[in-house]
Amino acid sequence: MTTRSPYSMLSVEDALNVTLAQARLPAPERRPLSRVRGAILAADIAAQEPLPPFPASTKDGYAVVAADGPGDYPMVGEVSAGALADFAVEPGTVAYITTGAPLPEGADAVVMIEETERLETDADPPLVRIRQQVQTGDDVRPVGVDVKAGQTVLAAGERLDPAEIGLLATAGIVDVPVFPRPKVAVLSTGDELVEPGEPPGPGQIRDSNRAMLLAAIGAVGGEPVDLGISGDTQEALEARVEQGLEQADILLTSGGVSMGDLDLVKPLLEHAGTVHYGRVRMKPGKPVTFATAEVEQGRRLVFGLPGNPVSSLVTFYLFVVPALRKMAGWPDPRLRQVQARLAQPLPLDAFRPEYHRATLSWDAEQACFVAASTGSQISSRLLSMRSANALLALPQREGVMAAGEAVDALLIGEL
Ligand code: AMP
Ligand code: MG
Repeated sequence: MTTRSPYSMLSVEDALNVTLAQARLPAPERRPLSRVRGAILAADIAAQEPLPPFPASTKDGYAVVAADGPGDYPMVGEVSAGALADFAVEPGTVAYITTGAPLPEGADAVVMIEETERLETDADPPLVRIRQQVQTGDDVRPVGVDVKAGQTVLAAGERLDPAEIGLLATAGIVDVPVFPRPKVAVLSTGDELVEPGEPPGPGQIRDSNRAMLLAAIGAVGGEPVDLGISGDTQEALEARVEQGLEQADILLTSGGVSMGDLDLVKPLLEHAGTVHYGRVRMKPGKPVTFATAEVEQGRRLVFGLPGNPVSSLVTFYLFVVPALRKMAGWPDPRLRQVQARLAQPLPLDAFRPEYHRATLSWDAEQACFVAASTGSQISSRLLSMRSANALLALPQREGVMAAGEAVDALLIGEL
């Protein structure tokens, strides 16, 4: 009897490439601006009108004819934002104007209020002293200076964050085609698992992975679907996996991918679809498994994540996040990477590259990121993920990396 895994061991890079090659873009859907934050635009968007649509004052002050120069002038009217003046500013006259108001006909510049004075006379119209010489166009936003009519304001593939949503609103575009958020279902497997709110019986532990993964899915822009806990029987597992494939674009299972008798996930995925890899040269997370299944609704990606909480979350970031981002339309779906210097020496693994959890912070004196280890890296110790915003990609080799050495850091949280 053999105890060797039948799966060949892929490198992390190869496994990621295989994963991304299987992730497909779904059809875009039109959504109102209130529901697009974080989504990727599926088409170029052009402005219908110029912005601003009228020459507008950028200051509170007086609309003038620049050539008039400093002097005392009659104020022939007032114009505030939101209305057009029903008078013209002839040479030798001025008009009070507020920020954002359309420049009255005849005026060609604005003198800010600080450079003027309303004179205390009984003159009608009242007299205003202009103290500053301005040039044509001063403190006026010409038509189309921000955005020209027909100009592409946003391109397909751009992420819609607050500024982009503001641009769409200003251009009068109230719904846009975006890629939908992928639905990601999470199933915990294991006879030993109980709900977090229940007291574990003898030999039992609480299910931490499901709450953690559901939260992680939401945080990276997916729509989480909770499939609960399945015991380690073929029937129970099969029923839940089928349900997951029906309901979600991506199915995550946790546990049941090691080499024990009750590690039923790999054979089940072989049956339900195609397993693309079942072992990856990495620490933690070696047994991570990736399959695809074709169902009525289309192609589904399935990740059999390892049961140990840390392995589960590390493999989620390394493989699931890029796949999810690709399916959400990201042109570059991989984790962002920076270089950091080690704050302390770290032991290396001679057989597998390690993804060491660390907290990166900016060191102003050295002008670089410094990576502080989160401590003991055993894969059951979820405390090693706490406050981690990066996975340090430690090379596979004997020995130790010295403090101060540079290392690639994959970002999993905010810096
Ligand atoms: P397995 O891959 O199923 O053999 O699980 C590996 C280890 O992870 C075992 O110690 C399991 O008890 C533990 N484990 C599996 N699933 C979970 C879970 N959802 N929450 C916490 N620990 C888990
Ligand atoms: Mg198990």
